[in-house]
Amino acid sequence: MRMRFWGVRGSLPAPLTPAQIRSKISAVIERLGPAPLPDAETRERFLAGLPPWLFGTTGGNTPCIEVRLAGAASPVIFDAGSGLRELGAALQLERPKPLDYHLFFSHFHWDHIQGFPFFSPAYDPEVTINFYLPEENPSGPLDAQMRAPFFPVSLDTMRAQKNFIRLETEIPLGEARLRWRKMNHPGGSYAYRLDEGGRSLIYATDSELKPGDFAETDANAAFFFNAGAIVIDAQYTPGEAVNKLNWGHSSYSLAVDFAARWGIKRIILFHHDPAYDDRKLYHLLEAAREYAQGKDECLKVDMACEGMELDV
Ligand SMILES: [Zn+2]
Ligand SMILES: [Zn+2]
Repeated sequence: MRMRFWGVRGSLPAPLTPAQIRSKISAVIERLGPAPLPDAETRERFLAGLPPWLFGTTGGNTPCIEVRLAGAASPVIFDAGSGLRELGAALQLERPKPLDYHLFFSHFHWDHIQGFPFFSPAYDPEVTINFYLPEENPSGPLDAQMRAPFFPVSLDTMRAQKNFIRLETEIPLGEARLRWRKMNHPGGSYAYRLDEGGRSLIYATDSELKPGDFAETDANAAFFFNAGAIVIDAQYTPGEAVNKLNWGHSSYSLAVDFAARWGIKRIILFHHDPAYDDRKLYHLLEAAREYAQGKDECLKVDMACEGMELDV
């Protein structure tokens, strides 16, 4: 399966500010020194050698991940944060155009649904969207955010066929199967695990990991053990996690501990704090990689960035 990140920021969209862009340009010029860049090839080499926090950005959109399964044409989408708008625009340009979608919600905090009113395939009468939520019907909160005075277009006005599905324990998606598990977060949140042909991916955003998540239980082992990759809430530094106990998010160090505990092979840090700039986020990634070395040398640590694609 292949996944692409369309929104990676937690809590609130956080676009690059003019001051941050000026500061990046200034730092690049400083690195340039007096030597000229005589041709395009030299320029590209110079740019490629810059640290990623200077030549690029982590991205400011709120959570949205697209997964393409090997054995099914329909896109699987986790969360409808502001990144969903750009995903919708890209999907409309695909040929053949996808006509069926599976959309899963971790929960309904604003940063996970605010992109939905701007999801262009939802206005296409040829399209069918299947909305899923464990334990309850997902239509209520989506409908509520598209009412006056919050938004001028109602959910009914979206002309796609909409199927609201309350998830039981697991469902098949093509050749894959999807399971869910409740996580610790104010109001609750859900993690999802996709298994297809021996590959597995867990999406576990907005989760404050607790001792119970590390406990040796059959349910924990069945859900977490030996997963190929986990996209996990790592919003806080270890210090912040102490100060923000019970706020519903985890630190990168706890996320690494968790992946090492369950033999997960790859961890992708996610739900970045809107107050952190690219430089800070890349420093946190370095700190997480260093921390992981002491826990499990085989554990691969990455940071979710908009536009990043991964094969799992
Ligand atoms: Zn969130
Ligand atoms: Zn939340």
